[in-house]
Amino acid sequence: MIEINHLVKKYGDHYAVKDLSFQVEKGQIYGFLGPNGAGKSTTMNIVTGYLAPTSGEVKVGGIDIMKDAENAKKKIGYLPEIPPVYPEMTVEEYMTFAAELKKIPKKDRKRAVLDACQMTGILEVQHRLIGNLSKGYKQRVGLAQAVLGGPEIIILDEPTVGLDPKQIIEIRELILSLKEKHTVILSSHILSEVSAVCDQILILSKGELVASDTPEALQKRMQKQSDICVTVRGEKENLLQIVNGMDGVEAVRVIKESCDDGSGEVEISITQMADCDIREELFYKLAENRMPIMNLHADTKSLEDIFLQLTEEEHNNDSDI
Ligand code: ADP
Ligand code: MG
Repeated sequence: MIEINHLVKKYGDHYAVKDLSFQVEKGQIYGFLGPNGAGKSTTMNIVTGYLAPTSGEVKVGGIDIMKDAENAKKKIGYLPEIPPVYPEMTVEEYMTFAAELKKIPKKDRKRAVLDACQMTGILEVQHRLIGNLSKGYKQRVGLAQAVLGGPEIIILDEPTVGLDPKQIIEIRELILSLKEKHTVILSSHILSEVSAVCDQILILSKGELVASDTPEALQKRMQKQSDICVTVRGEKENLLQIVNGMDGVEAVRVIKESCDDGSGEVEISITQMADCDIREELFYKLAENRMPIMNLHADTKSLEDIFLQLTEEEHNNDSDI
C-alpha cells in the first residue's frame, strides 16, 4: 500500500527524518511510536503529501507522491497533529466543505458526509457549532473528515492526545473498526496506546527506525533476556548452592522466604547468561535433589522497557525543542 525508501528530511543541519525505509501492507494497523521530536509528524506530513522530503521516495498504492500528489492524496484520509478547526462552522457545514475539498461528486456528498458522521458517532451533533463541542467530539470530527469518502489509507497523528480515558477507549474502538476496510497508520508517544490497537509497531528515535515488529514479537525479543522466577520447597542455602553451580546462571537473588526452618518455600530470581535457557536443566536438577518447584515463570520485560531501552539516549537529548 505504501512504500517508503530512504526518506530524509533535514532542517538546516538537523535531521528530522534520517534514511527511513519501510512498507505498509493492506488491511493492517501500523503504529508509529516514539518520544516527542522522533520524527513521527514529519514522516506523516511527507507521506500525505503536505511536506516535501529532502530526499527519498514515497509511493502510495504505486503512485509516487512527489510526481502525482493529487492522485496519491486521493487514497489517503489524514488527521494531522493540529486538526484544521473551524469553530464557527457547524459539523455538517464543515463536513460538506471537506467533501468539496476532497472532490467527492456533488450527488454523493450528502451520503458520504452522513456515512462518515455515522461511523464516528457524531450524527447527533451535526447541527452544533464545532467551537462548542467537547475536545473528544472535536477529535471525532477530525476523524470523520479523515474517513470521509472511504479512502483506502487513513493516517492519524496522535489521535487520542488530550482526551480523557473514556474518550480514548471510544476512539480506540473506532480505530479498530476501521481495520475492516482500511489500512491505518497512527502515531503516539504512548506505548500502551499503540500496543492495544496496532498489528505492527514502528519505533522511531531521532528520525531513525529502531525497531519494526508486531507487539508480540517485540515482547518475545525481550523475553529472551528475561529473568526466571522460581519458587521451590526446600532449604535456602542448599537451593542457592545448586542453582549457582549450574551452567548458564549469571546471578541469583532471593526474593522471598516463607519460613527459615528448612520446611518452607523459597522464591528466587535467576539471571541467565545471554542466549541461555536453563529452565529444563533447573527442573531436572531440583527434582534430583527432591526440591519440588511450586512455581516457575519468566519475569518478562514489558513493552514499556523495550521502548525505553530502544529510545534511551533520547531522554538526555534536546531534540524535542
Ligand atoms: P514528533 O512528531 O515525533 O514529535 P516531529 O516530526 O514533529 O516529531 O519533529 C522531528 C524533529 O524535527 C524535531 O526535532 C523537531 O524539532 C524538528 N522539526 C519539525 N518541524 C520543523 C520545522 N518546521 N523547522 C525546524 N525543525 C523542525
Ligand atoms: Mg508529532
